[in-house]
Amino acid sequence: MDLLNTLVDKGLRRELPTREEALAVLATSDDELLDVVAAAGKVRRQWFGRRVKLNYLVNLKSGLCPEDCSYCSQRLGSKAEILKYTWLKPEDASKAAAAGVAGGAKRVCLVASGRGPTDRDVDRVSKTIQAIKDGNEDVEVCACLGLLSDGQAERLRSAGADAYNHNLNTSESTYGAITSTHTYADRVDTVQKAHAAGLSACSGLIAGMGESDEDLVDVVYALRELDPDSVPVNFLIPFEGTPLAKEWNLTPQRALRILAMVRFVCPDVEVRLAGGREVHLRSLQPLALHLANSIFLGDYLTSEGQAGKADLEMIADAGFEVEGAGTTTLPRHRSTAHDEAPAAGGCGSSVGGCGPAADTGADAGHSGCGGCGSSGGGGVCAPEPAGVPEPVAASAGADEPHPAPVPAGAARTDLVAVRRRGAGTDLAPNA
Ligand code: SF4
Repeated sequence: MDLLNTLVDKGLRRELPTREEALAVLATSDDELLDVVAAAGKVRRQWFGRRVKLNYLVNLKSGLCPEDCSYCSQRLGSKAEILKYTWLKPEDASKAAAAGVAGGAKRVCLVASGRGPTDRDVDRVSKTIQAIKDGNEDVEVCACLGLLSDGQAERLRSAGADAYNHNLNTSESTYGAITSTHTYADRVDTVQKAHAAGLSACSGLIAGMGESDEDLVDVVYALRELDPDSVPVNFLIPFEGTPLAKEWNLTPQRALRILAMVRFVCPDVEVRLAGGREVHLRSLQPLALHLANSIFLGDYLTSEGQAGKADLEMIADAGFEVEGAGTTTLPRHRSTAHDEAPAAGGCGSSVGGCGPAADTGADAGHSGCGGCGSSGGGGVCAPEPAGVPEPVAASAGADEPHPAPVPAGAARTDLVAVRRRGAGTDLAPNA
């Protein structure tokens, strides 16, 4: 297929595909799916080998947000029955983080609901970062606290934060339909502040909110223009009790095509398989490891992920390896550029530049949280709604009828579970 050969060549050269090529990836048929995965897999292996970076989410403050992000279980007016609690103490956050690190996580993502931090919140998070680094010197810490005011990114950097997450989530043209309490430009501004302060920028998207292919391409090109080091790709978890509860728009095949498109547009960037992977990719999750080089281990902010042990088994069974603490995630040309000129960038492309200035696009989560894959994209869960099909995993006994097969595009509310363990509870975290 000429398209795929062209995209592989461009990916290996870190050259930006045209918008038409990116759209053509999304338009490929299911018959072509394995060819698409194989092609994008070549680009992934060129820059990241067979390594998978593990990241671990700690929800520092859950629910009760004054913002109205439609995808988010923590939003203003959300009826989702999620855990709600205020700031975790530094020692409790550090304990949760340690569980993730013990499970193999190389990065801990500290997330808090809300529009953005006060200066007092930044002090609080700074103490938490210190407590985590005291116990795990090599761990990378990413903060995800919402919209940043002037000087806050620098203070987080001084406190030891390595990265800051703030997702764009969707295209600029559709952003207003998703959130009314802040703007797409607000989000872009926070990513730029993080970048300028020398923090490694992390910014991604949520797919499955009813957007068009053009919207998806817009947001991914906008991300390339912003030049984050990591791009989380969330798949909407349509939480009961949120405005997008009925938006079940994804199939496993569609989710793989979206990941492949992101890999072709951002070939040498950490592409992170984020919230919603269990719900939407289901048994095809291992194929996604050929596209993404990073995943979240265990649970998300407000919803449960598959068991951390199952994540590790999946990685090993698919022929990949967990990236060790001593390994640099990004290819040398990107990590060196970051060390020398943190504010410069472009999706790693010293060749071809960072893409057209034309289109723009936008976390899942909050103004910050969305970032980390989770309250929005990965996030919300419904408390066992009535009329839901039996989980596929529930085996029927010899005398019992087998459950009816679930169509590929069906709403899988049975796969959505509210997080009831880990941070903010007395139960052990899933790591
Ligand atoms: S995504 Fe963040 S800012 Fe938006 S409603 Fe959720 S917690 Fe609030």
